[in-house]
Amino acid sequence: MKREPERDPLSPPLQDAQGRTMTYLRLSVTDRCNFRCSYCSPASWGGKKDLLGPEEFERIVSVFARMGLRRVRLTGGEPLLRPDILDISRRISSVPGIEHVAITTNASHLERLAVPLREAGVSQLNISLDTLSEATFRSISRQGDFNATLRGIEAAVVAGYASLKLNVVVMRGVNDEEPPALVSWAHERGLVPRFIELMPFGQGTPVPTAEMVERLRASGLSLTLEEEDPGDMAGPARYWRAPGGKVGFISPLTQNFCGGCNRVRVASNGDLRSCLGGRSQAPLHALIRGGASDAELALSIRRALGEKPEGHRFTEPGNASTLLPMMGIGG
Ligand code: SAM
Ligand code: SF4
Repeated sequence: MKREPERDPLSPPLQDAQGRTMTYLRLSVTDRCNFRCSYCSPASWGGKKDLLGPEEFERIVSVFARMGLRRVRLTGGEPLLRPDILDISRRISSVPGIEHVAITTNASHLERLAVPLREAGVSQLNISLDTLSEATFRSISRQGDFNATLRGIEAAVVAGYASLKLNVVVMRGVNDEEPPALVSWAHERGLVPRFIELMPFGQGTPVPTAEMVERLRASGLSLTLEEEDPGDMAGPARYWRAPGGKVGFISPLTQNFCGGCNRVRVASNGDLRSCLGGRSQAPLHALIRGGASDAELALSIRRALGEKPEGHRFTEPGNASTLLPMMGIGG
């Protein structure tokens, strides 16, 4: 019987069970946070010890880069709480093939870090700010410092980032009157505001995107829908054009964007989780500690994403064999 030629598990593209090509890695570098936002996943509330070091993040990113991923977003928890965030950023932005490194942050430490992060190769920041009212900020974040956050955003504005976005989670009766003011505030500073439908991880009532658009229009803002971006830079946001700049909407509840998903997620403990049901995973940290080669990591990643690798019979170290029964479905 003719044997299929063996394919190098490190060679691009990296695809999931649906044949979607992955180009974007979302890497959680910590689950610790200095805020306690009312809507956020409880996972970020407690805060465990950070397990992975800069070299391990660099190794993970370099394997994904060899498989064709071009963009990395560092997130958390609050990524800027890591004392080694500059080292992590520097290492990741130097990995061959990585073209963009972005960070999502609550801005509380940006006043000090905006310029050093830019110099460490970070080119894009998504900054979370839900309100321009100090009292509302306190009630949402529970323990954030409003003025430090604003100073952090102003520092980012002058630091020369290629892209600055302002993430706003909209909650009925909490900050749903604020979007017109937030649009003006963001555009005056060169940020792109993005309104996010609240997902049911914590407290609060969501406001559907269609209602937000109508309310912004009713406030006098002229909005026209931008052309869809068909490229692999497209994220889950849809953008509208306003006189002062773009306005984005991320609508996990009312628009299913999974069909165009091009991201892989790695949790702060080093587990790659396939997002479809989150059932299959690749324990990348355990594999690295167990001495896995790059090819073995790549094979484990492909299996966790539900791709059926052809022709390989790598011996997986550690508990990787337990992955096999969980693979191949992908939701
Ligand atoms: N700590 C950083 C921050 O707040 O930007 C990064 C991590 S945070 C989990 C990433 C993003 O998820 C933030 O923009 C936050 O507003 C958003 N987020 C958290 N919980 C959410 C929820 N229940 N629904 C929608 N977005 C949420
Ligand atoms: Fe969650 Fe970010 Fe708020 Fe922290 S700052 S609680 S990670 S949304």
